[in-house]
Amino acid sequence: MIILQKYDVVVVGGGVAGLTAAIYAIQAGMTTLVIEKQDRLGGRAMTNKKKGAYFNLGAHALYFGDAYKTFSELGLSLKGGKPSIDGYGIWKGKLVAMPTGVKSLFTTPLLSLKGKVELASWFAKLGKLDTTKYNSMSMREWLEENIKDPMLRNIFYALLRTASYVVSPDLLAAGPALQQLKSALKGILYLDRGWGAIVDELQEKAEQLGVHFLTHSKVDCINHQHNIIQNVLCSDGTLIEAKYVIITTSPATAYQLVKDAKKTSLLTWKEQAIEITAACLDVALRKLPVPNQQVVFGIDQTVFLTNQSRGAYLSDDGAQVISLLKYQGQETDSNKDLQDLEQTLDLVQPGWRQELIVKQYLPKMTVSYDFPHMNRTEHPGPAIPEIKGLYVAGEWATHGELLVDAATASAKRAIQHIKMVEGSGVEMNFGYRNII
Ligand SMILES: Cc1cc2nc3c(=O)[nH]c(=O)nc-3n(C[C@H](O)[C@H](O)[C@H](O)COP(=O)(O)OP(=O)(O)OC[C@H]3O[C@@H](n4cnc5c(N)ncnc54)[C@H](O)[C@@H]3O)c2cc1C
Repeated sequence: MIILQKYDVVVVGGGVAGLTAAIYAIQAGMTTLVIEKQDRLGGRAMTNKKKGAYFNLGAHALYFGDAYKTFSELGLSLKGGKPSIDGYGIWKGKLVAMPTGVKSLFTTPLLSLKGKVELASWFAKLGKLDTTKYNSMSMREWLEENIKDPMLRNIFYALLRTASYVVSPDLLAAGPALQQLKSALKGILYLDRGWGAIVDELQEKAEQLGVHFLTHSKVDCINHQHNIIQNVLCSDGTLIEAKYVIITTSPATAYQLVKDAKKTSLLTWKEQAIEITAACLDVALRKLPVPNQQVVFGIDQTVFLTNQSRGAYLSDDGAQVISLLKYQGQETDSNKDLQDLEQTLDLVQPGWRQELIVKQYLPKMTVSYDFPHMNRTEHPGPAIPEIKGLYVAGEWATHGELLVDAATASAKRAIQHIKMVEGSGVEMNFGYRNII
């Protein structure tokens, strides 16, 4: 057994949440180690380069939410572009103008005059809407109470699905989803060289500040004694003593790693979690067969297409990198999903096969291990109240944020709690719970 030096903070997992937590921990003066089981950092924010094209693990857009603020505060360059989200909708097998802006609102054949007036009034008031009022209402309830025109409701469903990745309006909490939609309508950022650029800069920043990393090292067990955190054991026998441990894996893995987890809140958090998954098809094309069709929202189908190259540098030789998503429910069929995605590409970019340089198909990516939904009994984290010194972060540990915003916000919550404990010099806040 190899015993490493004792660290103030050990972070399990080197994705966005883990890297963010590590940077804030070391900035607070605590010695910090990140342990990542893969041989490189980034988790689901990784980018892979194939034949000169940069492929994220499925379409990735940075909203102007917590993650953007956090990365800016940390001095990341965030190079890229803010493309227009004006595009088309797929309705009854045809492409029609999607009313996401002023011009398309006038031209779309999807809405009657009454529907257009209703949407225009929503564009005017959505920016000022206090979405927190709808945190305990489902998305479907909100839409049925607030949107009169049935076709406009379909359009809202499609936009909210794109912003949240969730296909179940009965489960999705309306407040967080509307907040995300508000943010999306203000614009999104596509990053040059993909999200791997964020990971590289976070890693560089962490290394400069003195964070240590163990990659290709899988944590097998997190030990505590008398309900106080003691150490972390890796599968190669490396043992690391720690004052604080922040777990950024999935809730199911967190539950497996912690000794006697069934006596902790991890049991509830694991059991209440509902995973969001998507089938992802990414293609690099020499050129676009139909240059003006770059963004397409499925209205009566759960698909989305975006040419990310319209906003960012994603290829070294000028190829166009298009990402397609199929939002999945509980039942998934890998072949059918691929067929649906290719059919969407046939409709939007006929002849794409002749222009294909390289493609990537990921049949079932976990977009989020959990999200703000109606069956939740409590918000996970930051502290695991039953064990002193043990924390969770990651997008599933959301207190209302969605996707990567929840990853950064939860990481900062964990560090803030640790700082509070360190600063107060008093016993940790046992019994700290976030009941909704
Ligand atoms: C297809 C797709 C599209 C997305 N689109 C968007 C988008 O448009 N906008 C947006 O904001 N977000 C988007 N996301 C979500 C975003 O990618 C995630 O929220 C974010 O990357 C999650 O970071 P994380 O650190 O919480 O988790 P992860 O990235 O999963 O990091 C956890 C890390 O822990 C490691 N690990 C697990 N077990 C162990 C162990 N036992 N020992 C050591 N290490 C371990 C894993 O290898 C991993 O690196 C998308 C995700 C997907 C998959």
